[in-house]
Amino acid sequence: MRTRIAATAFALTLTAAAVTLAAPGHAHAATAPVVAGNGWKLNAPAITHIDTQPWTIAFHDTTSRTKLTPYLKNTAAELSADLGVKVTVTTKIVPIARGRCVTGHVISYRYMSKPNPAVPNQSFTGACGNTDHAADGAYVYINSDYWLKTRNFSEPVRMNVIWHETGHAIGLSHPVTCPRDKNGLQPLMCADTYRDLRTRRYSTFERTAFKQLVANRTAAPLPLAVGAR
Ligand SMILES: [Zn+2]
Repeated sequence: MRTRIAATAFALTLTAAAVTLAAPGHAHAATAPVVAGNGWKLNAPAITHIDTQPWTIAFHDTTSRTKLTPYLKNTAAELSADLGVKVTVTTKIVPIARGRCVTGHVISYRYMSKPNPAVPNQSFTGACGNTDHAADGAYVYINSDYWLKTRNFSEPVRMNVIWHETGHAIGLSHPVTCPRDKNGLQPLMCADTYRDLRTRRYSTFERTAFKQLVANRTAAPLPLAVGAR
């Protein structure tokens, strides 16, 4: 079951469909990538896979860095293990703006109150794929209101939001259905999943999606530039 507050938080998160980049029409793709399954979905066609390049986590400003670094060290470690791609939390400042792609395998986070004033409870992510349809970068806005005592968010729910938005950042969407796995957990891309403070928070559903992001490297459509060969 979702808590009321968590359900609200997740219902109001956004995927980045509006700002993803897609290259049209690949006539020469050998095999179509697999982009959805039971309890998971990729942000295709903009993002169908993750390549082997390492990733960097950066921050919009020093406040964001101070607040979010302790969480993101765990997120980065979990992603590195699950994807087999190095994800490093740096001290770099990379200013972000909603609707403007972050590229170069960088995810930059901003911690701020009501990042979308029209929907004050929202946190959101904009993820961009490159012309090969590989995940290439993202901006992530984490709503600092979740830390207000008056909002009564639990720490596990805050962690779930950070991990959930980071799932979007590397190419995951919300699944069509939200089943439970053997452990009774629903996808983290659906709802809050863990209630305790464990440092690894992705469910078996996200881990399946991560495996497919890697497997799709060879199945992904060829870039347009290769079509002339
Ligand atoms: Zn979401």
